[in-house]
Amino acid sequence: MRENRAFCTIPALLAASWIAALAGAAQGEATADNGKGEKAMKSFAESDIHWLGHDGFMLAGEKTIYIDPYKIDGGATADIILITHDHFDHCSPEDIAKIQGPQTTVVAPRDCLGKIPGNKKAIKPGELLTLDTIVIEAVPAYNINKNFHPKANGWVGYVVTMKGFRIYHAGDTDHIPEMKTIKADIALLPVSGTYVMTAEEAVRAALDINPAIAIPMHYGAIVGQPDDAVRFRDLLKGKVDVVIKKKGA
Ligand SMILES: [Zn+2]
Repeated sequence: MRENRAFCTIPALLAASWIAALAGAAQGEATADNGKGEKAMKSFAESDIHWLGHDGFMLAGEKTIYIDPYKIDGGATADIILITHDHFDHCSPEDIAKIQGPQTTVVAPRDCLGKIPGNKKAIKPGELLTLDTIVIEAVPAYNINKNFHPKANGWVGYVVTMKGFRIYHAGDTDHIPEMKTIKADIALLPVSGTYVMTAEEAVRAALDINPAIAIPMHYGAIVGQPDDAVRFRDLLKGKVDVVIKKKGA
């Protein structure tokens, strides 16, 4: 059942009810989580969320948003670049430079921002930022069974609201209790183990977050194999729809 899974914002609800009204649907069924809302979300996950490898993503919508670009070839100039934490494979000044323009705003924890020129805003877990039409929430990201990402560092994951969908990029994290309170339509979750959750731990995280769609990340570059993503998908079969992205697509 998906009835409780969509956390779309008001414009999406309005758009969905308008579409439903056009289709002659009953008023009571005109919510974003009807068939059309779910279809739009799947289409957004498949076509507008681009995986750049490792934890890097580009979200294409009313703005061009990058998250943790690493070893990228370049691309459309960013409106917003979100960095989760100060490790070299996430906070990469040379990759940021490839997509940064005079209008780009870089959002990151303070320790990363010191390495980045241009417009920038520091963020901490629990903070909310609105840049033009985009609402960005920083959420905690940290390890609980290893020490690579201490909670005290104040590193983050992000929930970005775009096209009416809440997209959660978990950053480098384990399966943490806060995930029970994160509301997301689409969740990008690390699956490699070693520095972050294993695929099995990420399955439990996905069940806590309960998004409509989960996308595995953090494999195929530094640690983790495509097998981790496949195991994540197979273990969530019938529970959470998993989209495995191809790099660049
Ligand atoms: Zn890290």
